[in-house]
Amino acid sequence: EIFPDLGVPPAMCNLLSKMNVERPTRIQRQAIPVLAQEKDALVIAQTGSGKTLAYLLPIISRLMKQPDLHRESGIFAVILAPTRELATQIYQVLEELVRCCHWLVPGIVIGGEKRKSEKARLRKGVNILVGTPGRLADHFDNTRSLDLAEVRWVVLDEGDRLVELGFEETLTKIIEQIAAASQLSQSRYRALPSTRTHVLCSATMTSSIERLKTMTLRDPIWIKE
Ligand code: AMP
Repeated sequence: EIFPDLGVPPAMCNLLSKMNVERPTRIQRQAIPVLAQEKDALVIAQTGSGKTLAYLLPIISRLMKQPDLHRESGIFAVILAPTRELATQIYQVLEELVRCCHWLVPGIVIGGEKRKSEKARLRKGVNILVGTPGRLADHFDNTRSLDLAEVRWVVLDEGDRLVELGFEETLTKIIEQIAAASQLSQSRYRALPSTRTHVLCSATMTSSIERLKTMTLRDPIWIKE
């Protein structure tokens, strides 16, 4: 199988080709169709499996089909990672990928000194937001610059490390806040999914991941390397 068979648009395939990404990995072959069908997924995969593109490609491919959207249309996807380093890596991949979608703006919220500039960027409009849980919750609680009403995709990357680092409670709160903020039934964007899709990635399957899975996923499809 190649990327076009998985529903990845030609413009994205060309871009991937320039990044030397020609053939989908095993995880990508499994995950892309599942997410394209708006089904929740539990992805058990190590770094190096291609998991980042496995969740980013179906999200961006879907948004690329919406030329009526723009920077200020809302945050459509939230991706949470345990560390600033991982969040930054995901953001860098996103920055590359959004080059094939003229309106799509990525954003990042991570700990550090940049709260003010993050807030300014959020105010201007961001469509896919990557962050660490603590900083995302902080923006939600304190800066009021985070509107989660249009969120269609929630990804928890490196779930095992999220739990190890003590983020379980914060994540529960964020998931609840997203659900509470949701106005998908009243959304102006009828062509976008009317429900939210959730993805939980983890290198291992432990009892804490089992709890995170129960908290975040609905009838998930299991995807393994
Ligand atoms: P990840 O598992 O998401 O951390 O990705 C590991 C590395 O594999 C990254 O440098 C990606 O750019 C690369 N990669 C992801 N998918 C593919 C693919 N289908 N073909 C070649 N390289 C890939």
